[in-house]
Amino acid sequence: MRFSSALINTLRETPKEAETVAHKFMLRACMIKKLGAGIYDWMPLGFKSLQKVISIIREEMNKAGAQEVLLPVLSPAELWKETGRWNVYGKELMRIKDRHDNEFALGPTHEEVITDLVRREVNSYKQLPINLYQIQGKFRDEIRPRFGVMRSREFLMKDAYSFDRDEEGAMKSYKNMFETYVKICKRIGFKFRAVEADSGAIGGNLSSEFMVLAETGEDTIIYCEQCEYAANMEKASFKKDPVVDAAEEPLTKVHTPNIRTVEELAAFLGKKPEETAKTILYIVDGKKMAGAVIRGDREINEVKLKNALGASEIRLATPEEILEKTGAPVGFAGPINLREKGIRLAVDETAAYLKNTVTGGNENDYHYTGVNRGRDYQENLIADFAVAKKGDKCPKCGGALNEQKGIEMGHVFFLGNKYSKSMKATYLDESGKSKEMVMGCYGIGVSRVVAASIEQNNDENGIIWPMAIAPYEVNIIVVNAKYKEGMDYCETLYKELKEAGIDVIMDDRDISPGVKFKDADLIGFPLRVVVGEKNFVTGQVEVSYRRDPKNRIMLDKNSVAGEIINIVKSEKTGNTK
Ligand code: ATP
Ligand code: MG
Repeated sequence: MRFSSALINTLRETPKEAETVAHKFMLRACMIKKLGAGIYDWMPLGFKSLQKVISIIREEMNKAGAQEVLLPVLSPAELWKETGRWNVYGKELMRIKDRHDNEFALGPTHEEVITDLVRREVNSYKQLPINLYQIQGKFRDEIRPRFGVMRSREFLMKDAYSFDRDEEGAMKSYKNMFETYVKICKRIGFKFRAVEADSGAIGGNLSSEFMVLAETGEDTIIYCEQCEYAANMEKASFKKDPVVDAAEEPLTKVHTPNIRTVEELAAFLGKKPEETAKTILYIVDGKKMAGAVIRGDREINEVKLKNALGASEIRLATPEEILEKTGAPVGFAGPINLREKGIRLAVDETAAYLKNTVTGGNENDYHYTGVNRGRDYQENLIADFAVAKKGDKCPKCGGALNEQKGIEMGHVFFLGNKYSKSMKATYLDESGKSKEMVMGCYGIGVSRVVAASIEQNNDENGIIWPMAIAPYEVNIIVVNAKYKEGMDYCETLYKELKEAGIDVIMDDRDISPGVKFKDADLIGFPLRVVVGEKNFVTGQVEVSYRRDPKNRIMLDKNSVAGEIINIVKSEKTGNTK
C-alpha cells in the first residue's frame, strides 16, 4: 500500500472520549471511528489487524478439528424462551420485532441457535463429537460501553460450541479448546494468564478466562506466588484461618450508642475488627431479603454470594427496607433471630468458625458480644463469599496470593447438559438409547483482541505492533519524495517485498519527514526502512525496529530486502513455538 493513497487520517490530538491507551491510539492512528455509543467503524488500517487476528484464530480452530459455520444474527425469541434466557438475560439482550410482531434477539451469543441446529442435524452417536464455530458480529446492550472496541455494543466474536456423547468426551473437547486458546494467545504475542472464572449468564460449572495482562484491564486476577493457582477476582478463593478453640462465653447484649462502623465498634469494645462479624442485608431476585454474615474485616464478593444463594440477581437492601424488615436501622443487623423474621441467612466461612464474636443486635444502638453460631443462631447455609485479596493464603498451596489487572480476551466453558436438557438435544447411543449431549462453549472477543494487544504494546509515541497482527509489517519511509534515486530504490524494494509476501506500506507522501516519522511511531509498524539522501549516496539504508528505535542498523542497500524477509518470517513463526 502507498501511504499517499491510503485512507489514514492520523490525529495529533487525543479525542476527548478516549479513556485508555488503546482507545486513544486506535482513534489517533485512524484504526476505528466512532459512529455512536459503543458502535465503531473499522477503518482500513484497523481492519487489517482485525483480519490478521481472525486468520490466526481460524487457522488454530481448524487445526483443532472445529468446523466453521455462519449463523444468523437474528434469532427467534422462541429459542430463547425454551432455555428461559429471554427473561434472564435482562437488558443486555437487544430485542426487536418484525412487521408481524414476532420477537427476535440480536445474538449476544449463540448457545440456543447452535443447540437448535445440532438437535435437528445430529441424531446418532456416530456423528459425535462435533465442534462448530463462527466468527460473527455480536450485540450486547452494555450498561457502560467504553474503551472503544474493548467494550462495545456491536463487536466481533469467535464463538465455538462442542457436543459430546458424555462428560469424559466433553472434558476432552474443553481441554482441546483450552490448549487452542493458549496457542492463539502465543501467536498473537500476548503476555497472558488462564484463570479460573465465574460462569455468569452462560451457565455451567467449569470455566477459564484468558486474561491479557494490562494495568488498564477491567478484571482483577488473583494469583499465587508459589503455585499455578490463578482466578478471576469474581471467583477467587483463599485459605481460611484455622478455627479458634476457645470456651464459649455468655451471650451479652451491649449498649453501643452512635456506633455504626466495624472500626468504631471494635475500638469501643477493645477488640480487633477480625474478632467481630458484620451482617449485610440483600434483596434476592427483587423479592426476598437475605442476610450475609462475614468477618468484620472482610468484604463481600457479590458474585460468589449470588451463586451461593442460587440467585440470578442480588442488590443491597435500602435503609427503609432494612428498618421495616428487621426493626433496626442500618448498622445494627445481626444473625440472631434474623431467620425468625423470614430472612434467609448465609454465613461466610470467615465468620462461621468465629468464637465469641460480636454482632449487631437487630435493635437500635445495641450489639451482642459472646456470639457463637449453633448456640445463638442457626444459618441456612455456610459458603465462601468473601473477596480474596493480595496477602491472603492460596487455597491450593497456602502460598501468598497477589493481584494483577487483566483484560478478558476469551472464555472457555464446560456447559454440561444445561442447554441440551432444556432444548432436548439428544442422540441415540450404540444400544439405541436416547441421551443428552454434553456441551462446551468457547468465545474470543476478536475486536477486543486488537485493543488488548495495543494496551500491552505501546509507548508514549504510539503503538508497538507485534509482527503477527501488525496492519503492515514494514514501513518504507522515503525521506524526501523529490529525491529521485531514493524514490526509485524505494519503488523497487516495495515491489520486491510485496512479491515475497511481506505486508509493506511505503510512505511516499510529499510532506515533511517529521510528520512521516511521527505517524510511523503512532501507527507502530514493527520494521522501518529509512531511505535518506545522506546515507543512500554511500549505498546505505537505515533499518530499525519500532520496539527499539534507538538501535538503528545500517544495511547495504542491496541486502535490505533479504534481511527484512528473514526478520519478518522468523518473527511471525517465532511466536508459535
Ligand atoms: P465481560 O466480563 O468482559 O463482559 P463476558 O463474560 O460478558 O465479558 P463472554 O460472554 O464470555 O464475555 O464473551 C466472550 C468474549 O467476548 C469475552 O471473553 C470478551 O473477550 C468478548 N466480549 C464480551 N463482551 C464484549 C463487548 N461488549 N465488547 C467487546 N468484546 C466483548
Ligand atoms: Mg459481559
